[in-house]
Amino acid sequence: MEIGGNGFEAKDIFNQVIGYTYNDIILMPGYLDFAAGDVDLRTRLTRNLSLNLPFVSSPMDTVTEANMAIHMALLGGIGIIHYNNTVEEQVEMVKKVKRFENGFITDPVVLSPEHTVADVLDLKESHGFSGIPITEDGTLNTKVIGIVTNRDIDFEKDPTQKLKNVMTTNLVTAQEGVTLSEANALLKKTKVGKLPVIDNEGKLKALLARTDLKKNRDFPLATKNKNKQLVVGAAISTQGRDLERLDELVKAKVDVVLIDSAQGFTKWQIEMLQYIKKKYPELDVIGGNVVTEEQAEGLIKAGADGLRIGMGPGSICTTQETMATGRSQATAVYHTARVARKYDVPVIADGGISQIGHIMKALSFGASTVMMGSLLAGTSESPGEYFYRDGVRMKKYRGMASSEAMKVGGDKRYFAEASKIKVAQGVVGAVVDRGSVDNFVPYLAQGVRHAFQDVGIRTLPELHAALISGKLRMQIRSQSSIIEGGVHDLYNVQKNPM
Ligand code: GDP
Ligand code: 5GP
Repeated sequence: MEIGGNGFEAKDIFNQVIGYTYNDIILMPGYLDFAAGDVDLRTRLTRNLSLNLPFVSSPMDTVTEANMAIHMALLGGIGIIHYNNTVEEQVEMVKKVKRFENGFITDPVVLSPEHTVADVLDLKESHGFSGIPITEDGTLNTKVIGIVTNRDIDFEKDPTQKLKNVMTTNLVTAQEGVTLSEANALLKKTKVGKLPVIDNEGKLKALLARTDLKKNRDFPLATKNKNKQLVVGAAISTQGRDLERLDELVKAKVDVVLIDSAQGFTKWQIEMLQYIKKKYPELDVIGGNVVTEEQAEGLIKAGADGLRIGMGPGSICTTQETMATGRSQATAVYHTARVARKYDVPVIADGGISQIGHIMKALSFGASTVMMGSLLAGTSESPGEYFYRDGVRMKKYRGMASSEAMKVGGDKRYFAEASKIKVAQGVVGAVVDRGSVDNFVPYLAQGVRHAFQDVGIRTLPELHAALISGKLRMQIRSQSSIIEGGVHDLYNVQKNPM
């Protein structure tokens, strides 16, 4: 056979002076004799933590807080909660993930009897629901004394009317400890729309909605620990004062911590890794970010159980332009994964994922998971509210090293905190609405399964074995072939909803 008749091996592509991005490379199709549904995307995030899907949401303040982490875990991936917050705030988010039980709303919005009908209408507008439990002082710390639902305010013409005059007070409630199926049975029997779950003192602990009973979704891939709780990760920095953050996160039963530094191969990160592994040998720690063999090996030897790969590929990132340092992401993933494999340490391809094909390529070049920022920032589970610009619904997305995020602590990643003059390595922007991750993540997963099918491979371990043996073939694309491979020469295009 001619050289290159079936494409080339990864090592021929990556052992060159030039660095490649995902878009530069195309995979060769293999022989397929199975359905996309036969593809199994199970993988490992770290030495000891397995996931059902290779998806991780990035520790950024416009991407991962409790809600994102809950849904990423429900769907089979994991979320890493950012550290641009106080220790208490971050720990509370971890606890919220740990407390989550499918079907129960564990932090329902409540109002006080002194609030007005207008307040309920505002909530309906901003949050989409109007079934609001009323507590004595409008917080979760006092007793539930009533509930306001659509039916209480439907015919109320006066928006200044106080809720105490319209709320329903003969409540159907369930006692704390009730199981989901018992609570659902009570919802069915009593025909109410909302079921408050209260403790012995009458304080609200959770709320169930009848609508959810009807659409109650099963999450068969949910990533759970041995106590059947959803798994969650949290970011810490290498700074001394984050030692307290670490202790509190461990107390809150975080499953994995990630040391979030833009350039991870430092004295401080190595010391932090050694400290954590000594104090909490059972806790898995992700180190990074790294892009070279030397960096990867250095962090693994210091104790990293997983590595985060990427310096500069992020959509909001200006590091390569500003700092003149970094690496093309496909090349970075290949070389770091190759060395990490020797130590049985999985790597996360972090940043620059904007298409399903990028996920497939990251996994094909040796990554065990991908970390996404911009792709997930537009979903309803990310922090922040939607807004409209030019008729398009969108959400804000900002780099953790943008001037704006650095003001509230994002600079911990960049060793800039002590200096008065801060040089931004990221930007503030916006991303389009992508709906709920409950639909988006399964869509991404199905796309990746089809991609596995095209190369004729069913599982991630098989994909990595094919990468190592050279069975997985690939080729560099010329600039014009990249154009050829995209949409071109059309008068107009209706884009897919991705
Ligand atoms: P409502 O009757 O106007 O409250 O709306 P529905 O009960 O038809 O739908 C409310 C949806 O919002 C359900 O899927 C709830 O799970 C969800 N939800 C999330 N958080 C809350 C909350 O704090 N209160 C209420 N009432 N619903 C919530
Ligand atoms: P994206 O998925 O948007 O392409 O990339 C997300 C990744 O970009 C994050 O996981 C993180 O590694 C990186 N990142 C986040 N904020 C910044 C920033 O302000 N500057 C740089 N250089 N990288 C960032």
